[in-house]
Amino acid sequence: MNDTSTNINSSQASIKKILEQFAINPTHQRYEIACAMLSKPQHLSAEQILLLVNSNGAHVSKATVYNTLNLFVRKGLIKQVIIDPTKIFYDSNTSYHCHYYNEDTGELSDFKSNDMSFNRNPSLPENTVQSGVDVIVRVKNAT
Ligand SMILES: [Zn+2]
Repeated sequence: MNDTSTNINSSQASIKKILEQFAINPTHQRYEIACAMLSKPQHLSAEQILLLVNSNGAHVSKATVYNTLNLFVRKGLIKQVIIDPTKIFYDSNTSYHCHYYNEDTGELSDFKSNDMSFNRNPSLPENTVQSGVDVIVRVKNAT
């Protein structure tokens, strides 16, 4: 992929460079978590990342995974997609796109933002500027 807003790179040797580009000190555990997260475009929960990292032989605690994911989100390396307070996905694709969330399967999938349009933006509350728009279209399986 040549999209500069996408942090995916199959070469794990470059993961350290990517961490440094985002001003993240590449500790061993951060490196392991970044490798799991950035290996391909994907949406993972913290639990899935914990399993993935530890299945590769690392010994990373749940607290470290949560703290590291929060750091990655703050630094802009990955995006957080919050379905509800108990369902949070981490997205390795940071370019602007929208999501379908299937309430029956719990699956999150992407669609391009130009497949959807808004006629106009709402006027913003006083003394605020728009920092982003998140679109999650909730779907159910047709019966
Ligand atoms: Zn996505």
